[in-house]
Amino acid sequence: MEFKFDNYEVWFITGAQLLYGGDAVVAVDAHSNEMVKGLNDSGNLPVKVVYKGTANSSAEISEIMRAANGDPKCIGMITWMHTFSPAKMWIHGLMDFKKPLLHLHTQYNEKIPWSDIDMDFMNLNQSAHGDREFGHITSRLRKPRKVVVGYWKDKSTQEKISTWMRVCTGWADAQDMLIIRFGDNMNNVAVTDGDKVEAEIRLGYHVDNAPIATLVPYVNAVTEAEIDALVAEYEKVYDFAADCKKGAKKHQFVRDAAAQEIGLRRFLEDKGAKGFTTSFNELEGMKQLMGFASQRLMTEGYGFGAEGDWKTAALVRTMWVMGQGLPGGQSFLEDYTLNFDGENSSILQAHMLEINPDITGVKPRVEVHFLGIGDSKTCARLVFQAHSGKGIATTIVDMGNRFRMVVNEVEVIDPQPLPKLPVACALWKPMPNFEIGAGAWILAGGTHHSSFSFAVTTEMMEDYAEIADIEMLIIDKDTNIRQFKQNLRNNEVYYMLNKALR
Ligand code: MN
Repeated sequence: MEFKFDNYEVWFITGAQLLYGGDAVVAVDAHSNEMVKGLNDSGNLPVKVVYKGTANSSAEISEIMRAANGDPKCIGMITWMHTFSPAKMWIHGLMDFKKPLLHLHTQYNEKIPWSDIDMDFMNLNQSAHGDREFGHITSRLRKPRKVVVGYWKDKSTQEKISTWMRVCTGWADAQDMLIIRFGDNMNNVAVTDGDKVEAEIRLGYHVDNAPIATLVPYVNAVTEAEIDALVAEYEKVYDFAADCKKGAKKHQFVRDAAAQEIGLRRFLEDKGAKGFTTSFNELEGMKQLMGFASQRLMTEGYGFGAEGDWKTAALVRTMWVMGQGLPGGQSFLEDYTLNFDGENSSILQAHMLEINPDITGVKPRVEVHFLGIGDSKTCARLVFQAHSGKGIATTIVDMGNRFRMVVNEVEVIDPQPLPKLPVACALWKPMPNFEIGAGAWILAGGTHHSSFSFAVTTEMMEDYAEIADIEMLIIDKDTNIRQFKQNLRNNEVYYMLNKALR
């Protein structure tokens, strides 16, 4: 799947007013141009910043905001007040504005020029109070936004903007995201289900059903030559178990999996889908559960959720977009089994088949085994263990009156060999430790499925929750259960009253 940050831009507007005369207007414009150029030339921002001018009136602000809403390339707006910008001017524009907002509290000038400073300087460099005036009206309007504070040339400031830009890209990508479901949620499972209408309203993506019978002809149409070519690619990048190699008795299952991969990719391309879910109970006409294909397509950027889990499929896709170009892979994972071991107590993360090999440092191994669950039959799969390192596990659950995102910072550690469990896996310790991490996740009602990433950060997920305006719970090194439970209770009240406030 092709993805390019170049397809997007973030707009930048400077707030000012005409009170200080023509010279000030000219200087504000020149400084803004210089700052935007500096941000673009820093090499620290994934998305191009486009300066859209200085806004000196309500009419100008509204015009820029309307244009931003209507321009598909524009994925967000950075605002900065060079001089004082009376914020009633911003009311209509901000109320109209529908895209992510970043308020940059910086100043053109880094240090006070102690010996030269005069009233002209003061009339120009008024971010100190101009940005507070702007902050007031965005707060008064209950407008979700990210506030970044820091000097614009500093790398740490640019990195915060970069983080937000990545999230804006993921957000924009989700607004026309289609998730295809082959089969329904696994019967009676609660946490992976939810309100698909509300998801489209709140999170942007559309979830659609596809009978597996519509996929079968795509798989059957794949030619032997196409399968030969793909299996040759597998042979280059993976090890093969002896009984799966060409000529060995289980090799045909690998070829069947290759046909599924090609057919499934074509199907998703025809539909314009960015993610999909599978079901081991809906495989009529398929030779095996599409586990190997799911592993391969996840690596390409397709969102994936098992057993009909469309929320996780969408989140896997969004986190793939947000992590583009950063080191460290990501995957769909499931809490599999526990390992009680004192301070090193951990959770084995795996699934029957569908783990993205991007999270391992070893060469994955192609294996074929019988899978007794549902109609899965005998399935090919890539087997490996994730490398160690810090990452995040995330989920979104439907609480009935709102979506709740839960993020748990985790430390992936090295597992023991698992000679009799032929699945891909990771082993992690949830932060701050197993007892509190797992306890908080369960109190929050988090899923047994998660979207895991070595690349995406908690800060990105915070920005995502802010843009989506959904509940966010973080479980990290500072979490304690008493405070966490209080947060849950506080949030219940907040979300009950939230609609009344807006
Ligand atoms: Mn599962």
